[in-house]
Amino acid sequence: MKGADKIHYYEVAISGSPLRSTFSYHFDDELAVGQRVAVNFAGRNVIGYIAGIGSKPQFKTKPISKPLENQVYLSPEDVALINWTVENYLASIGKVFDLFFPPGKLLKSNSHVIPISPELPFSTPLKMSDALKLLGKEQFQKLKSQRKLKILHSYEKKLPSKRRIKLLKLPLSIKTLESLKLTKSQKKVIDYLLSVEKATPRELMNALSLKSRSPIDTLLRKEILTLEEVEEDETDRWTIEAIEKLTAEQEHVREAIVKDFSGVHYIFGLTGSGKTEVYFKIMERVLNRGKSVIYMVPEVSLTPQLMARIRGAFPGREVRVYHSYMSPSKRQRIWLDAVNGEIDILVGTRSALWIPIQNTGLIIVDEEHDSSFYQQTPPHYDAVEVAIKKGKLYGIPVILGSATPRVERYFRAKSGEFKLHSLVNRPVGQLPELEIRDLRNNKDYIIPRKTFEEIEKTVKLGHQVFVFVHRKGFSNYVVCANCGNILKCPNCDISLTYHKHDGILKCHYCGYTIPPPTKCERCGSKALSARGFGTERVEHELQKRFPDLSIMRMDRETISNPNQYEKALRKIESKEAKIVVGTKMIAKGLDFPSIGLVVVIDADRIINLPNYDSAENAFQLISQISGRSGRGVHGRAIIQTFEPEHRVMKTALENDYKGFFETEIEIRKLLKYPPFSIFVEIIVEAEKEIQCQNAAKELYEKLVNTVKGSEILEPVTPAVKKLFGKFRMKIHLKLFDRGELRNLLKVLQKNPAGVDVIVNSNGGSL
Ligand code: ADP
Ligand code: ZN
Ligand code: ZN
Repeated sequence: MKGADKIHYYEVAISGSPLRSTFSYHFDDELAVGQRVAVNFAGRNVIGYIAGIGSKPQFKTKPISKPLENQVYLSPEDVALINWTVENYLASIGKVFDLFFPPGKLLKSNSHVIPISPELPFSTPLKMSDALKLLGKEQFQKLKSQRKLKILHSYEKKLPSKRRIKLLKLPLSIKTLESLKLTKSQKKVIDYLLSVEKATPRELMNALSLKSRSPIDTLLRKEILTLEEVEEDETDRWTIEAIEKLTAEQEHVREAIVKDFSGVHYIFGLTGSGKTEVYFKIMERVLNRGKSVIYMVPEVSLTPQLMARIRGAFPGREVRVYHSYMSPSKRQRIWLDAVNGEIDILVGTRSALWIPIQNTGLIIVDEEHDSSFYQQTPPHYDAVEVAIKKGKLYGIPVILGSATPRVERYFRAKSGEFKLHSLVNRPVGQLPELEIRDLRNNKDYIIPRKTFEEIEKTVKLGHQVFVFVHRKGFSNYVVCANCGNILKCPNCDISLTYHKHDGILKCHYCGYTIPPPTKCERCGSKALSARGFGTERVEHELQKRFPDLSIMRMDRETISNPNQYEKALRKIESKEAKIVVGTKMIAKGLDFPSIGLVVVIDADRIINLPNYDSAENAFQLISQISGRSGRGVHGRAIIQTFEPEHRVMKTALENDYKGFFETEIEIRKLLKYPPFSIFVEIIVEAEKEIQCQNAAKELYEKLVNTVKGSEILEPVTPAVKKLFGKFRMKIHLKLFDRGELRNLLKVLQKNPAGVDVIVNSNGGSL
């Protein structure tokens, strides 16, 4: 029997649970806050997290089964960050704890210490524990930060490390080769390999435009070529050379930041003004002091080019990418390396922010304005705000950067919460000349004749063209010309998009597909017509007009993983692709010197979305996409619109963010939108429409009675009223006091499932 005085009580958060509360458990030994444990919850064995130390409750508690690991991975600061996220985004605590860990069971590792410098008292690898004994902890840390030794982990499970690729090589001497009798295409293959030494079969076929593999196969059979499987060499990876020196303007910003290296710095720098290079120089300083850097980007699509630049600027540093497209085992390895303090630079999307990486000395958030930093699936949170909070808790400086700041954050920077710096010149190239193309009275509303001509002119100069289209697919919707019926997804209240290449109609929300019907389901008429357009249609029109040009399409249909993305980017870099048609994917952060023209086909679509921040999003997108132009050559951008007088168009045309901001902030103030309120969206979902409406009404009444310091709008039917087979209603709230979040939480904790809450804006200093 154990004495009652030995029992400890804990508040446990349940992994994966959508619930917003913790649960009381007991254990007969001491556990630390942040530790992972196994518990029985609702009859199942699940992972839990010690969220806090409790006291004996009135009711009978269940025991914690056991701690999962002896090691406690989360620091008190991490736990504070979790609590902050839960309070400010009303997120489920178990799901926020989950963000800290990679998927799957943690691997055990054996660690060895590898001597690098000859001055070490050992010359062959030692077990970690032995090395620590020999050197002492302090000396060990010192040698490690001086890179005089290196730690290597061998993980319990065998994991595929590097990508394996097959390379063609020439084993024979040139003389022997010359004596051989070869066909013309075989000769071409040999000549090519003589110049590049090695290539994958695919690279070779592409480079020589071979129609079949047979010349390669014949040469292999005759043993004139060999095919070897090798680990992809790191040095073969895409590398972009570092710049030599910062410009005076960049240097000025760098100095101001390092002189006052704490809190949040904001670099407001026009597109191409060299923000990345300023981050790099500041990173160098942090790394030289033995600390690591977290570098956040909004999307994985931005990592290949950034990694190539980092490889060029920081040779020899341990650099890793982390994002949710990676396999669980890869994520585990990176996670363990980070926890063990072996990563110098961690580049990643919002999920990387939660890794408990040791010894962080700087957090960078590039393209801070990007909506991808906001997690759209539960637990919802804004990674930029979490990064700022993390910096505060750990005392780490944070640098945010953008050419088109989020209005709320620029407001906070101007009011002194962040330290504001600006870059207004491009070190290379010039800002593009922007031009509005008025589409009114234009018959060819997709690509007017004049736009075609400009594209042709640009390509003739040897420059490349980016063509932005708001959505993918061939047409937006299919309508019956007889009765007006629009073909919709049965699960979502959304029109189906026609994809010509695959010959299907597809729902962009849930992925539902059908072959195109031959007649209208309502009236039986055969007069179905595809209206509107997407990337595929624009690509089709361009290819029709320029049959000989290489045109590449980049959207979620053609590119579904980071590898494909990297390949596509290299095709742009090598100028193999002359015209690139793409969605938002091509609007972001890319830096290619030969883009001479950017065309925004349908600027209006973005402006007219029913969100409080749609004007700002449109301004951002138009400025960002045009900012891809003119980075090495003279650049232009054509913005096609039916509303040339719109204030977004006018300010974007002048590159006038400040002008846009001044008007926008007045409107926000008038309508009490962020940063003058915390804007919350509540979505109620149900199987039946009437059920959904009633639940929304009931919730609305409770909110009105409980959340006082706020403006609560009556439930409305959202633009997409049915999604994934469920009906939806929305309630909007503007909170004028952060304390009201707590009252809101009270209502939600009592409310049944089927309610999703999105705290859209943090409200900054409110
Ligand atoms: P941003 O991040 O602001 O869009 P980048 O850092 O990508 O800008 O810089 C744009 C281009 O200018 C890049 O190709 C970069 O290599 C180049 N560049 C930046 N700073 C310098 C510099 N000091 N000297 C030469 N080239 C530079
Ligand atoms: Zn019809
Ligand atoms: Zn659907």
